[in-house]
Amino acid sequence: MPESADIAHSEKLKQRLRFYEDLGLAPFYRDRGRLRLSQSPSPASSPGRPSLSIEETPLPKSALQTPAVASPAARAKAFLPLTPLPPSLFEAAYKNQSETLLQIRDDLGECTRCKLHTTRNKIVFGDGSPRAQLVFVGEGPGADEDAQGLPFVGRAGKLLTQMIEAMGLERRDVYICNVVKCRPPGNRQPEGDEVEACSPFLFRQLDSLKPKVIVCLGATAFQTLLQSNRSISHFRGQWLDFRGYKMLPTYHPAYLLRNPAAKADVWKDLQKVMAELGLEVKKTKAK
Ligand code: SF4
Repeated sequence: MPESADIAHSEKLKQRLRFYEDLGLAPFYRDRGRLRLSQSPSPASSPGRPSLSIEETPLPKSALQTPAVASPAARAKAFLPLTPLPPSLFEAAYKNQSETLLQIRDDLGECTRCKLHTTRNKIVFGDGSPRAQLVFVGEGPGADEDAQGLPFVGRAGKLLTQMIEAMGLERRDVYICNVVKCRPPGNRQPEGDEVEACSPFLFRQLDSLKPKVIVCLGATAFQTLLQSNRSISHFRGQWLDFRGYKMLPTYHPAYLLRNPAAKADVWKDLQKVMAELGLEVKKTKAK
């Protein structure tokens, strides 16, 4: 390899390691033993584009056990439904599963279906590949997103980008959207009537994308898809079902900015997603 390519290669690896540091992974991996990063082709990566491969020593057996997913009966008991969406909204949301994202965006138009339209600057519909196998769903746009019309472009967005890249992907490989498409004033949580008005468009986006995995970022996304008001901590990191799609709730990047210690939990969740998507998470025997 020419010397300049060597330097570029080394710089890329350094950047990757910085992503891991920013995700708070150093303590996690110190606990877990040897970590080796290598460049290798990945099923989900473009030809010629290197992806991240992780080799690690196995965790103790107890730590490797997948947390038990609550039985349907237990889940039904555990979920305290929010105000249910009117059936007509569900019917409208699911009437045409073959529509494209563009058609859905056209239908949304310059939406005035809820009061958030009065204070928004730009509608933030979603961004990424219409063929994405992985979809991240957040809560709603913040100030940066409202200004640019794109999801997750502020500080939390930069952290999400780093998380995606740490998985060996790029933002253009995935799709990112929110429960509500307009910024709630002062970055407050979206209110029930706003979620009710806007979430049918999210459901239609998901049905258009038909992703292999949906990652819910934070409580609002998780509670909207599962119609539950349970805390995300009950289900974080567990595989759940949303209308036949595999869904995994994890913490919102904005929460991670306030609580960096939770980054290691999120990384464990993302490793589950990587395994599900066939991205490389190699395990080697301890020496
Ligand atoms: S939040 Fe959704 S429903 Fe409300 S105005 Fe914006 S696009 Fe329309």
